[in-house]
Amino acid sequence: MANYYETLGVSKDSTQDDIKKAYRKLSIKYHPDKEGGDEERFKTISEAYNTIGDKDKRTKYDTQGQQRGFDGDPFDAFSQFFNNQGKRRRQQQQQQPVRMRGKDLKINLTITLEETYWGEEKELKYRKKISNGRKCPQCNGRGIIMQTIGSAFFRQMVNVTCPACAGCGFLNGGDVIERTLKFTIPRGIDSGHFMKKNGGGDDTFNGISGDLLIVINVEGTEDRKKEGMNYIYLKKVNPIECILGVDLTVPHFEGDIRIKVPELHDSSKALKAKGKGFTDGGGMFGDMLIYLEQDMPSKLTDEERKKLSEILTLENFKR
Ligand SMILES: [Zn+2]
Repeated sequence: MANYYETLGVSKDSTQDDIKKAYRKLSIKYHPDKEGGDEERFKTISEAYNTIGDKDKRTKYDTQGQQRGFDGDPFDAFSQFFNNQGKRRRQQQQQQPVRMRGKDLKINLTITLEETYWGEEKELKYRKKISNGRKCPQCNGRGIIMQTIGSAFFRQMVNVTCPACAGCGFLNGGDVIERTLKFTIPRGIDSGHFMKKNGGGDDTFNGISGDLLIVINVEGTEDRKKEGMNYIYLKKVNPIECILGVDLTVPHFEGDIRIKVPELHDSSKALKAKGKGFTDGGGMFGDMLIYLEQDMPSKLTDEERKKLSEILTLENFKR
């Protein structure tokens, strides 16, 4: 393993300041953009400084001696001191292999329970950015520009989104068109799920398009909702029906379902219609769970009051 202290020509007990000074001197001397520069040597120097120039990494290096390899770009450390043409040219060269990618577009789509149950067809319109065939002159179609930040001593060049084209690389930000998208909702799709159309997002100059994401929200009603694969239905019955039991008809996507409420039903428990819920998309179906809600009469007549009071004297209702 390389001896980083030797590389920088400093002793093991030198201060951070000494190390910094030594690195600065050597990096100027061997900078590859300079006459007589040495790229390999420069990299080695940067690697050494990246480790022992940092107090924490230096401690680790001293104790373990196994700070392997080289993390980070040697030109990043260099840019703390310099801001010259060589640096700028080099960064541009490095960035070219990175392909630009257009912005992803996100559409929130609210669908009904029926639409997810059946997997219905949908059509929606959306707007996306496309090429106007001309390159943004400010960023030369790259979508980003270099900007200098920092103080006089520690200046750095950073990439920022081009303000002239908002990052797409087209002159004046390109054209915007309206697209119509037709698709079938996958059966059983749930809130928070999304569908993706690769390349459906904004286009970009000299790069690939972003994606279009359709984020689903399944909207139920006061008495019906989707809970995972289960279809929850809330049915109002009067309290006497809960005691005596009753035959109910409840609506379902495929037609009404008859369900028998047994005598003395505990209304905190669901009645289950097996397999009548939503699909998981792979052939499995959840259940329909019917909850009874006691629907109190709004008032009582004298006769009703009298009869109900009599019940309270009977064997199973006595206190
Ligand atoms: Zn631009």
